[in-house]
Amino acid sequence: MERLKEPEVSPSYLPLSDFTNEEAFRDTIGTLDERGKRRWIYPKAITGRYERMRTALAVVLLAFLFAAPWIKIDGHPLLLFNVLERKFILFAQPFWPQDFHLFVLGFLTTILFIVLFTVAYGRIFCGWVCPQTIFMEHVFRRIERWIEGDAAQQRNLDRSPLTLQKAFKKTLKHVAFYGISFAIGNTFLMYLIGTDAWTELVTEPPAQNLGGLSGMLAFSFVFYFVFSRFREQVCIVACPYGRLQGVMLDPKSIVVAYDYKRGEPRGKLTRNPETDQQRGDCIDCKLCVAVCPTGIDIRNGTQLECINCTLCIDACDSIMDRIGKPRGLVRYASEEQIQTGAPFRFTRRMWAYTFVLAVLASSLIFLLATRSEFELTVLRMPGTLYSKRADGAITNIYKYQLVNKTTRPYDLELRVANPDASISILNADPVIRAKAEALAEGMFIVSIPPERLKTTMTKLQFEVVSQGRVIDRTTTNFTGPIK
Ligand code: SF4
Ligand code: SF4
Repeated sequence: MERLKEPEVSPSYLPLSDFTNEEAFRDTIGTLDERGKRRWIYPKAITGRYERMRTALAVVLLAFLFAAPWIKIDGHPLLLFNVLERKFILFAQPFWPQDFHLFVLGFLTTILFIVLFTVAYGRIFCGWVCPQTIFMEHVFRRIERWIEGDAAQQRNLDRSPLTLQKAFKKTLKHVAFYGISFAIGNTFLMYLIGTDAWTELVTEPPAQNLGGLSGMLAFSFVFYFVFSRFREQVCIVACPYGRLQGVMLDPKSIVVAYDYKRGEPRGKLTRNPETDQQRGDCIDCKLCVAVCPTGIDIRNGTQLECINCTLCIDACDSIMDRIGKPRGLVRYASEEQIQTGAPFRFTRRMWAYTFVLAVLASSLIFLLATRSEFELTVLRMPGTLYSKRADGAITNIYKYQLVNKTTRPYDLELRVANPDASISILNADPVIRAKAEALAEGMFIVSIPPERLKTTMTKLQFEVVSQGRVIDRTTTNFTGPIK
């Protein structure tokens, strides 16, 4: 059998379990040394079936991320999150502040979906879909390897004195990093202000758009800092989702796990069949540690730093192939499965989350399907009470706001449903001209003969009518004198 060469692993990546206290790894994070100083991670490149699948998914997601702001349907971008002007478009459907309840429900459903997924499948989101992992592992890390080489060459380059070649490589890398960060920052800005406003921003003289340009540069710099310096620290110390893992995972959650029953006692291959047979399948080559982008040893068990990127699975599978042992010493499995060999089962907690998720998702779908295209709001003018006209009628003054969420302009009529009340718009034109995707507002007076008032607070119902069809309703109060 071919003798395996040990992968190059810096002393800083030796698993802490190799030191005197085998639980010591729980006292610190893999990217800090004993003095609390940052340990720079140089993960070794590895290919394998999971890496290929993740790369394919990353290509699709990156293509979507960069293309989505440019895709327009009915003149609307596919996605827009204009928090500055409170304009939101999801899948070419404009949402207004009046649809805020849908946003809240959608947000809650997404959070619950992620929680349920985490309970059942661990941090699968982090490893496969999270933009931080996708950009870091599939874009920036690849560029770094193209320019500086794999882990050992990067480490040697960092330790070597400054030469012309080193200066060239470092400059090239950071220019490329900033260029991509600039592209990400601009895309982020497009999601925020839309491609039309972004095009104006970049084509008009800079002096006219200082605010927008500063935003663009600031976004780019933040991304550059994150991907060139902060890197895996985002997942370890900054990401709130990462921090929640401790409360969401249980022994039945599927995570990237080391099969210690099969792997231990670990030990190097000796070529002595008797000695090798007494050992587990782990040959202690530490390739799983060398490829880890968060600098941990998966053989220590599930750890806070693990982003479930599956690189250690591919690394260990490649070793198992080479020593003729079955793959899967490191694999997707739950703690319970490893311990008992039991198959995956849906726990009661998962059923409960699924039920709540189903309720929230169906409510959201129902509300989206029945979302009105117009939104009428009527409020009595603040600070006003009732007035008495010369003919004795009691009047209240109101303000209306009508949102036309459609892409067509409409001529609409506002009327009051109560038979005793009459309405007069404070405008020469009694028709409300609601422009496409715009807010129409104005004032009107409602009058009621005093003998028709039964209480000091009468409920009124208002309707917006288009070509004889009521398209939205709302209610408010009418105040009158005490009899
Ligand atoms: S332990 Fe494995 S799955 Fe977890 S971050 Fe490291 S390489 Fe990725
Ligand atoms: S788990 Fe696999 S990759 Fe890791 S040290 Fe053991 S044999 Fe090597």
